[in-house]
Amino acid sequence: MSIQTNIQEIKSSLPPHVTLVAVSKTHPVEVIMEAYNAGHRIFGENKVQELVSKYEGMPKDIEWHLIGHLQSNKVKYIAAFVSLIHSVDSIKLLEVIDKEAQKHNRVIDCLLQIHIASEETKFGLSADELEELLSSNDFKEMKNIRVVGLMGMATFTDNMAQVRMEFKFLNNLFKSVKEKYFADKPWFKELSMGMSSDYAVAVEEGSTMVRIGSNIFGHRNYKSN
Ligand SMILES: *Cc1c(COP(=O)(O)O)cnc(C)c1O
Repeated sequence: MSIQTNIQEIKSSLPPHVTLVAVSKTHPVEVIMEAYNAGHRIFGENKVQELVSKYEGMPKDIEWHLIGHLQSNKVKYIAAFVSLIHSVDSIKLLEVIDKEAQKHNRVIDCLLQIHIASEETKFGLSADELEELLSSNDFKEMKNIRVVGLMGMATFTDNMAQVRMEFKFLNNLFKSVKEKYFADKPWFKELSMGMSSDYAVAVEEGSTMVRIGSNIFGHRNYKSN
């Protein structure tokens, strides 16, 4: 099936309040342009260097999301143009984003990534660490970032009951911190969860943003560098 058909089918299966982030990592600009020409404008990349080169090589009305782990020393390369960073997992990183955003006179939208999977290898804050971050004075003083919600990745497993439980946990955490820390902040409304294999479950459990790669672009070939 064509990329255009894949996008149309996925979009028509999503409720209107759910945003589709087309995950274009590893795919070349020519391929991503097929999605662009089909009218799609929101793309996600997981590596800074790749994000920058695609931003430079593609039309400027694209919203670029960084969805992968971000190192503090690389924030400066994306601060001028990134639309949403899904993967903020420490107050230190948030502080660097705040400083770099200030240099560009802008406010960068961020999601706080929560560790919900059973794998130790995945990134993210625990529920306790999230509370600690949100209640800190350092956080309250930041003017050039805006936390618009939470993000999480479920365990890589066929066991959909486990995946559902992890998404439910994240949605409950989302609701409780929204009430406690963001009650007067209508922009705190995004729950980024769900990928190709589990987005239907994620949407049932309250996702507002799904990050889908292989179901749109096909399987990825990873180079060994
Ligand atoms: C690669 C990636 C995705 C998309 O994965 P697919 O299984 O190809 O849909 C989603 N989120 C993150 C953080 C990723 O790195």
